Amino acid sequence: MDALVPDPRRALPALHRLLAMPECGALVRVHGRERAAAAMRQQLAALREGSEGFDAGEFFAAVEQCLGTRAGLGRVLNATGVVLHTNLGRAPLAAAAIAAMAEVARGYCALEMDLQSGRRGDRFSGAAALLCELTGCEAALVVNNGAAAVLLALSAVAAGGEAIVSRGELVEIGGGFRIPEVVAQGGARLVEVGTTNRTRLSDYERAIGAESRVLLRVHPSNYRILGFTEAPDPARLATLARERGLASVEDLGSGALLDLARLGLPGERGLREAVADGFDLVAASGDKLLGGPQAGLLLGREDAIARCARHPLMRALRPDKATLAALEATLRLHRDPELALREVPALRMMAEDAEALSRRAQSLRALLPETARAEVAKGDSLVGGGALPLARLRTTLVALHPDGLTAEEFAARLRRSHPPLIARLERGRVLLDPRTLAEDEIAEAARAVTEALA
Ligand SMILES: *Cc1c(COP(=O)(O)O)cnc(C)c1O
Repeated sequence: MDALVPDPRRALPALHRLLAMPECGALVRVHGRERAAAAMRQQLAALREGSEGFDAGEFFAAVEQCLGTRAGLGRVLNATGVVLHTNLGRAPLAAAAIAAMAEVARGYCALEMDLQSGRRGDRFSGAAALLCELTGCEAALVVNNGAAAVLLALSAVAAGGEAIVSRGELVEIGGGFRIPEVVAQGGARLVEVGTTNRTRLSDYERAIGAESRVLLRVHPSNYRILGFTEAPDPARLATLARERGLASVEDLGSGALLDLARLGLPGERGLREAVADGFDLVAASGDKLLGGPQAGLLLGREDAIARCARHPLMRALRPDKATLAALEATLRLHRDPELALREVPALRMMAEDAEALSRRAQSLRALLPETARAEVAKGDSLVGGGALPLARLRTTLVALHPDGLTAEEFAARLRRSHPPLIARLERGRVLLDPRTLAEDEIAEAARAVTEALA
């Protein structure tokens, strides 16, 4: 009997033959031979159990699925419309920043050498000079991210004493960054003043004692308290600190250099204003509204910056040459606001006008297969990165309603395409926002949808 029924198992190729097949090449390159072979063995075992015959296309698709799409850091298509998406790497860099990064990455650079004297130099001097020029601060320093800037500032000026903060500003930024915990980590004791919605200068005045070291102001990046609210004028807070012999620190978060009103966005306190208000130290991120690489900026007075630079934490928090090169290039673009708007991708995306977005949504829709059942609809994009939570950027979305798939299932398929397409899920709909897709990514996004529906 057995001899008459063809046994599909006999048709299964051996592992070494599979590894030699051209389809396997990409899998081995991405995942390594060991992992690819293990996944193939597993898939062969599954085939031996079942009654299906061997089909190379199906086989390698199953192996790929088993290996997962996360083989490492790779490019994704951001169709969420969130411009500074923290989970997707925040700000895409300007061409000039990418070129500067590549140049110093390729070879050596005078990172810590003064080319005039040939002596040891300071890795921050280029970025610091630009930051002083652009914001009016006396001195500046760069660390790895905004959180590091706040931690270093508090460690340098408040350790062993008290940091006074308004109850309306005891913020959690996300990713577990909570002001009370950062104050503790900086070696200071938190003294809360005022209430959630109202804090006055006199509240700070009354709280100042022998142990007080710093008045800390924190930007409520990702939330707003509206209605019956009060907070002291920031300049008066900085003055109070100086009169009483304390340091003043502002954690600004977003760190805009450009006047965002130019983008039709609500006024956001920028780096220049915080410096002009007289804070000893202003901390901000390099990859939020500045549109540069992940970095933390510390701007302020000469002596306060010098204390931070001398602090032992500095060595642990210092950024590498590529980050500094990208930051310097981004800052150079900010010398001319018009140029920054054109060349810094995050700013360009925020500024993109409704007409252009509508046109791009239409051209994306036109490239999609019938089965996507796509339609265009008005909607909003978000700035993201914990910045401007109330700002609504009007956009045109492409909504997809494929038959027989839930929104979650379809979004999961889109994440498995090459490159992965990250869509927005909203009330059971899969939405694609052209604002965060570059011109040449529209066709790629359409291919990803086609691939996911095949
Ligand atoms: C984003 C933010 C931080 C943290 O900055 P990272 O660059 O993400 O480390 C700190 N404080 C405020 C107010 C922020 O908005």
